[in-house]
Amino acid sequence: MKFEKEKLLFKKSKNFARWYTDVILKAELADYAPVKGCMVFKPYGYAIWENIQEVLDRSIKEAGVKNAYFPLFIPEKFLEKEKEHVKGFSPELAIVTVGGGKKLRERLVIRPTSETIIYEMFARWIKSWRDLPFLINQWCNIVRWEMRPRLFLRTTEFLWQEGHTVHETHGDSLKEVARALNNYVEFYRNFFAIDGIYGKKSESEKFPGAKDTYTFEMLMPSGLALQGCTSHDLGQNFAKVFNIKFLGRDGKEKIPWQTSWGFTTRSIGAMIMVHGDDAGLVIPPKLAPIQIVIIPILQGKSDNKKLINKVKELKEILKDFKVETDFRKEYTVGWKFNEWELKGVPLRIELGQKEIKENRVTLVRRDNGEKYFIPTNSLKLRTGKILSDIQKSLFEKSKKYLKENTKKVFDYKEFKNIIMTDKGFIEAFWCGNPKCEAKIKLETKATTRVLPPETKTEKGKCVYCGKPAKNKWIFALAY
Ligand SMILES: [Zn+2]
Repeated sequence: MKFEKEKLLFKKSKNFARWYTDVILKAELADYAPVKGCMVFKPYGYAIWENIQEVLDRSIKEAGVKNAYFPLFIPEKFLEKEKEHVKGFSPELAIVTVGGGKKLRERLVIRPTSETIIYEMFARWIKSWRDLPFLINQWCNIVRWEMRPRLFLRTTEFLWQEGHTVHETHGDSLKEVARALNNYVEFYRNFFAIDGIYGKKSESEKFPGAKDTYTFEMLMPSGLALQGCTSHDLGQNFAKVFNIKFLGRDGKEKIPWQTSWGFTTRSIGAMIMVHGDDAGLVIPPKLAPIQIVIIPILQGKSDNKKLINKVKELKEILKDFKVETDFRKEYTVGWKFNEWELKGVPLRIELGQKEIKENRVTLVRRDNGEKYFIPTNSLKLRTGKILSDIQKSLFEKSKKYLKENTKKVFDYKEFKNIIMTDKGFIEAFWCGNPKCEAKIKLETKATTRVLPPETKTEKGKCVYCGKPAKNKWIFALAY
């Protein structure tokens, strides 16, 4: 039923959660799968992931990291080797007990992350300091059983890349942790046009088995935080249990230092939430599968030939961009406008008899509705400029929102009040005692999101217990 799409979306400002699901389904990014918690990427949604992969993969390779692929099944005993790791992941594991019609002697876990299977292999491959640094990435799917699924944000199966590196010294591995994090942060800012706060996770929020976890936290329009990526300093924890050793430059046997880092399809959820509006998606030009849609305004048959030729000419002029043309006759022009707005295409070109006569086009921006009348001969240049302006202004908007919704709080009453009302990021002193963190979580559902590196050591009082505290942490409710 084609008319379904014409039904109005839920308003983003009025019912954010309903709007989010609605826009994903109606813009045909994804659909629910028969298995609860799983989703299907439809071609338009998958095209965004392909764009993400292309950019990220290039930057990963530029850092000297090579792609490989490891199996989906992991022997359960591998996970049990690292105590924190198995404790952290066991509630969300999917386990295979039957294979080929027979009960398996050894149960197999479907990877919730691949540290254990990869490090089993690293132990076989790494022998000497000459093998280091050892830098591997894999693109794959991951399964973590999800009780409260939400499209893109929380699904039982999701797609990601996971980098795994091995180094001679802790200094070297820390550099890699920072490089990977920085790469993600820049990616979010430059391509997703989303600002956020990066830094270190608390002990209770870090990756199970890691020494430290670093991340980029973004603020969604609902006032809730979304963790955008992770970069882990694994220390020597996994190397010890998986028996990864190398012969050092001094001829002595040594234990290497490791990192792992990941970026998932969840990022698409962030893009949808941050930039979308009441009319649908707003996709940043750098991630858009279609950057420009040309809509010819078809009329009497005799004139249409001219129009069709003109569209061909425009497509040629704009060949450096991702252009789609919409010649469908079964829909009205107004319907088409709504459709491409819903799909978040950054620019629309309208072309009718009037435009042809005057040798110009009408160009409309998706992000703010601004109209331009551009002569054909300067179209290429102007289009490029307008697209980069859209990219820039989306980022500026996100930056402004982050700034306006990050509040310094010194008093627990005020803390609770903000969580109950506006939400957003709360910057507050915390003494570092896990008990205060746990009590805050229990009483408000807010968690420590990140300790930003810019935080200078200051003198303050813990927002919960009032005892001396050195650092301001970012707290928020989170997805
Ligand atoms: Zn405290």
